[in-house]
Amino acid sequence: VGEKLQQLTTQLQQISDVNNAMAVMGWDQEVMMPEGGTKARARQLSTLARIGHEMATSEDLGDLIHAAAQEIDGAGYDSDEAALLRVAQYDYDQNMKLPVDFVAKFAQLTSEAQSIWAKARHNNDFKAFEPTLEKIFEMTRQGADFLGYTDHPYDALLNQYERGMTTAEVARIFNAHKPALIEMIAAIGEVENRVSDDVLHRDYDIDKQREFGLSVIEKLGFDFTRGRQDISTHPFCTNFSRDDVRITTRFYKDFINPALFGMIHEAGHGMYEQGVAEALDGTPLGHGTSLGVHESQSRMWENVVGRSKGFWSWAYPQLQAQFPGVLEDTDVDSFYKSINTVKRQFIRVEADELTYNLHIMLRFELECDLMTGAIKISDLPQVWNDRFEQFFGIRPPTDTLGVLQDVHWSIGLIGYFPTYALGNLLSMQYYNTAVAANPSLPAEIASGKFDTLLTWLQTNIHQHGRKYTSAELTQRVTGGQIDPAPYVAYLQNKFTDVYGLG
Ligand code: ZN
Repeated sequence: VGEKLQQLTTQLQQISDVNNAMAVMGWDQEVMMPEGGTKARARQLSTLARIGHEMATSEDLGDLIHAAAQEIDGAGYDSDEAALLRVAQYDYDQNMKLPVDFVAKFAQLTSEAQSIWAKARHNNDFKAFEPTLEKIFEMTRQGADFLGYTDHPYDALLNQYERGMTTAEVARIFNAHKPALIEMIAAIGEVENRVSDDVLHRDYDIDKQREFGLSVIEKLGFDFTRGRQDISTHPFCTNFSRDDVRITTRFYKDFINPALFGMIHEAGHGMYEQGVAEALDGTPLGHGTSLGVHESQSRMWENVVGRSKGFWSWAYPQLQAQFPGVLEDTDVDSFYKSINTVKRQFIRVEADELTYNLHIMLRFELECDLMTGAIKISDLPQVWNDRFEQFFGIRPPTDTLGVLQDVHWSIGLIGYFPTYALGNLLSMQYYNTAVAANPSLPAEIASGKFDTLLTWLQTNIHQHGRKYTSAELTQRVTGGQIDPAPYVAYLQNKFTDVYGLG
C-alpha cells in the first residue's frame, strides 16, 4: 500500500470513529438513557457532529484523496482501492456542498421539531406543527439547491439515500405498479372477511415471545457473538463496526406481530452489516450501500421468507409448542393466512405487503409537490385526506391518523420514503435470482435451513458494502435494473391464494 493511501485510510478511519461514537450515543439514547439525559446528549451529539463535519471537509483530506487517487491510478474498478477512492471523493464532494452553518442550523431545527411534532400528533393539532414544517421544507429547498440537481429539486434529496435515483425514475417505477396494486386491493376488499388476523391478538406472554423470536433470528443467521438485541419504542438497527451490530424491538402482550416480524426485519438489516467484508470495516465502504438495498434485505427476511408458507411449515409447530393452549385450535394454513391479512387502513407502519407501496406513493407525490410549491403546507391535511381516499377508498378521520402519523418530516428526512418501496421491489428481484442459482432454496427454507440463502446474499450483496451503488449492484446481481414486475407477480400469486380469488 502506498504512503498517501495509508495516510488517507488512517484519516478516514478516524472520521468513522467519530461517526461510530455518535452512533453509540444515539443507540444509548433510545435504549438506556434516562429522560434527564436529553439536554446534555443533544449537546454532546452536536459537538461530535461538528467535529465529524470539520474532519470530513478539511482541505487536508481533500488533498490526500487527490494524492492517493494518483498513487493508485490504474487500479481496477472492482478493486477495494479504486472503490475506496471513488466513494471517499464522492462523500467529500457531497459534504463540501453543505455549509457548516446550514448543517448546524438544520440539525437544531429538526431536533426541536421532533417534540413539536410528537405533541401535535398526540393532540391531533396540525396547526401547531405547521410553522415548523414550513421552515423544514424551506430549508430542505435550500439544501437541495446546495446539493444541486438537473431536473427536479427532489432529485437532490433522493440522491442522498439512493444514489443516482431520480424523481422521474421513481415516478416511472411507481406508475408501473400502482394500478395493479389498486386493482388487487379492490378485489380483496370484496371478500375481505375470508381472512382474519384475530389469532394474532391472543394472549402472548412477552418472555416467551422474546425467547421464540431470538431463536428464530439466530437460526436465520444473525450472529449474536457480533450483535445484540434490546428494547426501544421505535425498532431500529445500528452498528459501530461489522462486528458490533445492534438491533431493537418492542413487545405487545396482545399482538404477536410487532415483535415477531419486527425482530426478523431488523435482523435482516443486521445481517447485511455483519456480512460486509472485514477489509472494508472502518472505511467509507464499510456499510450497506443504500437505504433501498438495506430495506430489500430486511423485507426479504421479514416477508418473502418470514411470511411464506414454507417457513411456517417449519416454524409453526414450534410456535404452537411455545404458547401452549393459545394456538391449538388453529392449523398452519389458517395461521399463514392470518399473517397475510390485507387491510385498508390508515397507518403506514401497520400496512401489509399489498398496501404498503401505495402508502409510499402517496407520500412521494406529496413531497414532490411540496418541494416545488405546487401544494401549500397549510393545505396539506386536506390534500392528504383527498388523495388517501382516491388511493384507498377510505378517508382518515383525524390528522393523527393522516398527515401527522410519520416522524420522518420532523427530523428532516424528505426523499427517504421511496426507498422503502424500492426495497420491496428489489427484495423480490434478488430473491428470484438467488432461487434461480439455488433451486432447492424454497425447500430448504421449509425445512428450517437458511444458510444457503444467507451465504448467497453475503457473496453477492453484503460483502461489497458501498463498493457499488444500488444500480451497479442490481445490475451485477440480476443483470438488469430495478423492476416492479417480479414484485407484482409475487403479490398476485400470494394473495390470489390467500384470499381464494379468481
Ligand atoms: Zn427497515
